[in-house]
Amino acid sequence: MPQLLSGKTALVLGVANRWSIAFAISQAFVREGAKVILTYQGERQKLTVEDLGQELGASDIISCDVTQDSDLDKLVGSLKDKQITLNTVVHSIAFANREDLMRPFVETSRSGFALAQEVSAYSLVAVARATAPLMAPKDEGGGSIMTLTYLGSVRVVQNYNVMGVAKASLEAAVRYLANDLGPSNIRVNAISAGPIKTASARGIKGFSKMLEVANIAPLRRNTDPAEVADTAVFLASDLGRGVTGNILYVDAGFQVIGLVAAD
Ligand code: NAP
Repeated sequence: MPQLLSGKTALVLGVANRWSIAFAISQAFVREGAKVILTYQGERQKLTVEDLGQELGASDIISCDVTQDSDLDKLVGSLKDKQITLNTVVHSIAFANREDLMRPFVETSRSGFALAQEVSAYSLVAVARATAPLMAPKDEGGGSIMTLTYLGSVRVVQNYNVMGVAKASLEAAVRYLANDLGPSNIRVNAISAGPIKTASARGIKGFSKMLEVANIAPLRRNTDPAEVADTAVFLASDLGRGVTGNILYVDAGFQVIGLVAAD
């Protein structure tokens, strides 16, 4: 079978460990022939991400805390020095204070709200602005930027709280970025994944309850990270060339469910 991403280079932000959605995406990108560059947030994850990068055959592994403009500048500078042209950027990053995911939303602190917005939503804007100039010219395919979101942006999901509001902001940012970058043939989309057991997910109080959606989702199962990754391949590939400004649900269909009749 032809590889869908051969000749393409992808920058993937957000691999923390092998359970990260970004790692599943990186594996699928490599399977489809892409060259992958990974970033990690700080010294704490350096060794793990270096090991995972080696396993993947990543062409580079660069430190980048997305709240630091200086880190983004260094990242872009290092890619420019190596004359790298990007075809795809994956933003798979979110953070909120644990306390803000534990208590009622109405009690969210001003600083906790700002932090969740900064790391989980604004960083997409900063990453898109920094990396767009590195993307292929518009007549050579332009580029595809994608982020990861969750249904808590449009529905109330208990305990998702401040992160739900950050995801609403992230999804709106996807639409505005798609409009700004579309003339350069750069597409911007989000994948709304169903609940998946990862380090971030474990920070949400009662996360195991969220996995019970498998009992009522149309496909009657939970979301496999590999399914999210294959959708990321589609968005990164030329097959997705007409898709921008979209939120694609990869959640076993759970988002269509309203009321479920008791048996
Ligand atoms: P994860 O493995 O914990 O990934 C989250 C990543 O964000 C980590 O690599 C983390 O790095 C990184 N990060 C946080 N603050 C950062 C910063 N300032 N600079 C750079 N990186 C930073 O969990 P995940 O579930 O795969 O999450 C990836 C994305 O998928 C998130 O946007 C999440 O909201 C979204 N999502 C997850 C689910 C789910 O059920 N798991 C469902 C829908 C959407 P450190 O570990 O070093 O902090």
